[in-house]
Amino acid sequence: MLRGIVSVRNRLSRNANPPSGWQESPIEGILVDPAPPSDPANLSHVISVDLEDWRQSVFDHSLPVSDDFHRGTDRLLNLLDRHQTRATFFVLANVAKHSPALIRRIQAAGHEIQSHGLDHVELNRLNPERFRSDLTQAKAVIEDITGEPVTGYRAPRFSITAPTAWALDILAESGFRYDSSIFAMRVRGYGIQRWPAGPARIRTRSGAQLTEIPVSTARWLGRRWPVGGGGYLRLFPRWLIGWGLNSVVASGWPIVLYVHPYELDSTAISGLRLNVPLTRRIHQGLGRPSVAGKLATLLQTFRFGPMERLVQTISVPAPAGPPVGGTPSRCACHPSP
Ligand SMILES: [Zn+2]
Repeated sequence: MLRGIVSVRNRLSRNANPPSGWQESPIEGILVDPAPPSDPANLSHVISVDLEDWRQSVFDHSLPVSDDFHRGTDRLLNLLDRHQTRATFFVLANVAKHSPALIRRIQAAGHEIQSHGLDHVELNRLNPERFRSDLTQAKAVIEDITGEPVTGYRAPRFSITAPTAWALDILAESGFRYDSSIFAMRVRGYGIQRWPAGPARIRTRSGAQLTEIPVSTARWLGRRWPVGGGGYLRLFPRWLIGWGLNSVVASGWPIVLYVHPYELDSTAISGLRLNVPLTRRIHQGLGRPSVAGKLATLLQTFRFGPMERLVQTISVPAPAGPPVGGTPSRCACHPSP
């Protein structure tokens, strides 16, 4: 089996003439077909939310999920509602299990619900078998709550990188249609240098196809800058974020933002009774009071929507073979419990 995978991988990586429309990517054996730039007036900008509990997802994976993320989530939902904007929520399955009513409320507000995995353990700490199991479990948990198929994925801490690119095949085999886990520049701990900055079709080592939607990066002074949200939205000044996102649009790419609800809660870390080191409190807490205002400005300036709207414009056929599972419970995408 392993020999077969290596053989396919070598065959693709040695292929001097990839199939029409495809080109080599920075990851050996993975081909890409970047979407062409579009008229800036017609772009489908995306806002995405990684729904997780800071203390469990970032500080210590062994802690139980707490209610702490509800405050930031409520603020974010109100902000999106005020600007009549729908987003894609990549939901951590252990958060969904902890607060299923919140997930249904987010869904009822018209937002798209997809998967952020099971418990926020990064892929470089998993092997393919464990990843497959976690992915399937998380998909089932979320689908049971929403009754809708889960077809999009974002890895914890953008942890699909060159050494974990095996995950792309497992995503396709597990019924996923798109992924937003590849950070299109190298930063500390994640990212892939020279990965296409805009949306692209990808052809995995086994020949399966997915759509990849990286969060936004802007080019300046011969290098890329992370301007798509998260900690960068906290730490970068408004002018830099505005300049970066306008340059993304001018290049013909849609803006793809990502936000953590806890970043809208400036009291979340200071109120913790946990022994969080001072440097970490500062690094993770700095700039939080500015996030809601920056986000409101962006929601006024650009028209954002969920990721599925953008994925539909990049034609990738539905995954071959049946989705994971058999008898439908509330949706037809995973086995009945
Ligand atoms: Zn996360």
